[in-house]
Amino acid sequence: MAVSTIRIALAGIGKIARDQHIPTIAASDRFELVAAVTRHEPPEGVPGFTTVAEMMAAVPDIHAISICTPPRGRLALIEEALAHGLDVMIEKPPAGTIAEAARFQPLAEAAGKVLHATWHSREAAGVEPAREWLKGKTIQKVICNWKEDVRVWHPGQEWIWEPGIGVFDPGINALSVLTAILPAPLELQSAELRVPENRAAPIAADLAYQMDGKPVAVAFDFDQQGPQSWDIIVQCAEGELQLSMGASQMAVDGKPVDLPDDPEYARLYRHFARLVDARQSDADLTPFRHVADAFLFGTRKQVDAFHW
Ligand code: NAP
Repeated sequence: MAVSTIRIALAGIGKIARDQHIPTIAASDRFELVAAVTRHEPPEGVPGFTTVAEMMAAVPDIHAISICTPPRGRLALIEEALAHGLDVMIEKPPAGTIAEAARFQPLAEAAGKVLHATWHSREAAGVEPAREWLKGKTIQKVICNWKEDVRVWHPGQEWIWEPGIGVFDPGINALSVLTAILPAPLELQSAELRVPENRAAPIAADLAYQMDGKPVAVAFDFDQQGPQSWDIIVQCAEGELQLSMGASQMAVDGKPVDLPDDPEYARLYRHFARLVDARQSDADLTPFRHVADAFLFGTRKQVDAFHW
C-alpha cells in the first residue's frame, strides 16, 4: 500500500542538494527529509551518517534515498541502498560509465525497488508542450545552444573535469530535452570536443546530428561569460518553435506560449512519488548514450588551459 509520506534521505550534500533538493523536499507534501549520507555537515535539522547501513540502523522507516553525489562511484551506494530496502532516485548524469548505469535498473528490479534516473531538464515547463506542438510537423532544422559558465554553476568542483564529464554535465540536459521533444532518434554525424590543455574533459563541444535526415546542430560551451544560453530552435515548414531558459520558456514564431510556473524539481519529486506509488522504475539512459557516442566518435582539439 502506498505510504502517504515518503520518508527520504539525501546522499551528497553539495550544490544541487542545497540549491534544489532540500528546499523542494521541504515544500513537498509527499516527502519528508529524515536523514543524510554525507562526509561533511548534514542539512539543518536532520542527522548525518557516513554510510547507508549506519543511517538505517539509527533512523526508523526510511523509504527512499535521493543521490546527489557526482556521477562516478554511485554503484556501491545504490547497491547498499537497495540492499536496505530503499527506493532510489539519482541525479543526472546517472553514472560514470554506460556499463555501470545499465546495471542500476536490473539491480532495482531484483530487489523489488523503484529506480528513478532523473533528467531534471525534461521536467521544464516547455518540454511536454514542445513535444506536443512538434507532433506531425515537418521539421527542417534544429539548432541547440547550451552555454553556461562553469565557475557559476560548479564553483571549484574538481570532479567536473574528470574524463567523460566536462561540458557534457550541462550538455546532457540539452540532450535530455532534445531526445524528449523530437519525434525520431538522433544520429551523430560528427563531433569536435575542445579540451583545455590542463584538463581531462572538454570545455566545449560541437555536435552534428541528423534526425530523419534533417540537421541538428548542437553547441555546448562551459566558459560562457555574460548571459547564459540554454536555447533550442526547431525550424519547421509550419513555423518555428523556440525553447529558451532551459525549456522553461516557449515561443512559436516569436509569440510566447503561456506555461505554468511549476519548477523542475517540484515536478521531478512529484514524478518520483508517482513511481513509488505505482512501484515502477524510470531509467531512460538515451541522453547518456549520446554523451558516450560523442566521446567515442568525436575528434579532440586542445585549447587554452582552464583556471577557476
Ligand atoms: P557538488 O557540489 O560537488 O556536490 C556533490 C556532493 O557529493 C559533495 O558535496 C559531497 O557531499 C558528495 N561527494 C561524494 N563523493 C564525492 C566525490 N568523490 N567528490 C565530490 N563530492 C563527493 O556537486 P553538485 O553540483 O551538487 O552536483 C552533484 C550532481 O548533481 C551531479 O551529478 C550534477 O550533474 C548534478 N546537478 C548539478 C547541478 C548544478 O547546478 N550544480 C544542477 C543539476 C544537477 P558530502 O560532503 O555530503 O559527502
